[in-house]
Amino acid sequence: MNSLSPLRPIRFSARTQDLHPSPIREILAVVDRPGMISFAGGLPSLDSFPQFNLEAMPQHMLQYGASEGEAELRLRIAEDMQSLGLQCSAEQVLILSGSQQGIDLVAKLFIDPGTPVAVEAPTYLAALQVFRFFGARFVAYDAGAPDLDTWRREKPAFAYAIPTFQNPSGRCLDASERTVLAAACDAANIPLFEDDPYRDLIYDDCERTPVCAGLQHAPWIYQGSFSKSLAPGLRLGYLVASPELMPFLTRLKQAADLHSNRVSQWLVLQQLNDPDRSQQLVELAGHYRQRRDVFEAALSRHFSDLASWQIPPGGLFFWLTLNSRIDTRQLLPKAIEAGVAFMPGEPFLPMDVEACGQLRLNFSHADAAQAERGLRILAELVREFV
Ligand code: PMP
Repeated sequence: MNSLSPLRPIRFSARTQDLHPSPIREILAVVDRPGMISFAGGLPSLDSFPQFNLEAMPQHMLQYGASEGEAELRLRIAEDMQSLGLQCSAEQVLILSGSQQGIDLVAKLFIDPGTPVAVEAPTYLAALQVFRFFGARFVAYDAGAPDLDTWRREKPAFAYAIPTFQNPSGRCLDASERTVLAAACDAANIPLFEDDPYRDLIYDDCERTPVCAGLQHAPWIYQGSFSKSLAPGLRLGYLVASPELMPFLTRLKQAADLHSNRVSQWLVLQQLNDPDRSQQLVELAGHYRQRRDVFEAALSRHFSDLASWQIPPGGLFFWLTLNSRIDTRQLLPKAIEAGVAFMPGEPFLPMDVEACGQLRLNFSHADAAQAERGLRILAELVREFV
């Protein structure tokens, strides 16, 4: 501290009172330690990243660009959306600095202190953090069977859903569950915010049509990401929204960062236009499917008497429910000390719980030997803990 300046209290905004460190980013800070086996973050494996070549990039990509994003990229994304059954034009596409930015923009658009927001339980913890930061009051719901009476009573400002390979549960809604969710949003006239960063990481046949495509009149926002299907360091995602929301989302984007990185946009467009792109996605999914299966075999060896789980048909995570309802946050420091990192389940829940006995394990980062060793160590710790 500078001894010349008197210690004066700094006046922060009221909302920073609820600003907590992200448990994920705190854990990511320790996973780089040598020898650490990480099942914590949703890190794609390093060897899956494409080689980028910047030589042919036009110089003007280094200039300021449009807030909405590069026209060609927006058109390409609109075409992809249409092929998924989501009717939209390029004007309805907004390029984001990672789909995390979409969560921030949607929160700014809808949430005041006390605003009810419908969220799954569990759901993506960094979305909960952002919604909470703006003052959301959570109304937990089951995306496969929303309770209309609760929605009519509570009137959430929007429903946040990850219908495909949910983070953290890995669940994928089937066709009839998607129809039910869309019908509930229409019936209660609740905007649907569909978050879909994992759709390309598919290992078993399952329904992936965006739920937004089934809406008749409720407003909607669908977002995707290039973090999992290309590389997270590009920090590029996109949202597509019903026309009445676009002017607001675009202004919020302008206020946030003017526009997304043009170099990343150019690189992504090159990849999307690469004739080998669909084959690369098949290979990527094959690579992760193999990791999932190796991981599942190791889980069965070490956890079959300790926990239950579903095999995720896509995405990056196993969601484990331990036989005893322990506070998995307390298990974490012991695991890190033993050289294994994982994500405790409690931060994924919108309600305060003392102990949920659930944890999220990422299977894409560790290789077979690390998965075997890490799960053996973790199982031993769980046995000692309960
Ligand atoms: N939504 C969900 C459900 C996620 O799991 C993530 C992170 N993996 C994001 C959004 C943010 O991803 P990104 O900003 O890298 O696109």
